[in-house]
Amino acid sequence: MKYRFTRYSPWLVHFNTGACNGCDIEVLAALTPLYDPERFGVKLAPSIRHGDILVVTGALTKKSAERLKRLYDQMPSPKFVIAVGACAIDGGVFQKSYSVLKGADKVVPVDVYVPGCPPRPEAILDAIVKLRERMSQVEPQASRQ
Ligand code: SF4
Repeated sequence: MKYRFTRYSPWLVHFNTGACNGCDIEVLAALTPLYDPERFGVKLAPSIRHGDILVVTGALTKKSAERLKRLYDQMPSPKFVIAVGACAIDGGVFQKSYSVLKGADKVVPVDVYVPGCPPRPEAILDAIVKLRERMSQVEPQASRQ
């Protein structure tokens, strides 16, 4: 019998690689009862080892790159990544800084990009729901390590 993730309730892990906190506030807002992500089975994971979706905010610095990669490696497969905000996508307003890598996808594979500075909670929740739909098509053995 094929096992699919249609009945799957993905848990989120949030990592700030150096954000101004603007995106973080919006991520937290998207997780409040006002937007009610739990109706989709989505909630914050108690630890990285229980996470299915890694939500990255902020400009990825050289120092935080190693930590982001380590956190990603600690997540069980299948695992997915959402880059929230201009900084996480390409460094945003900090992209010309000597210490900033241009985007989280330089270190981990990003599945969904949510543009904005910061994006609204509705956009973040929409990205999570769309990724959840894509997850329902993924077979465990086809997932990335
Ligand atoms: S995208 Fe904008 S709001 Fe988000 S961390 Fe960067 S500067 Fe702050």
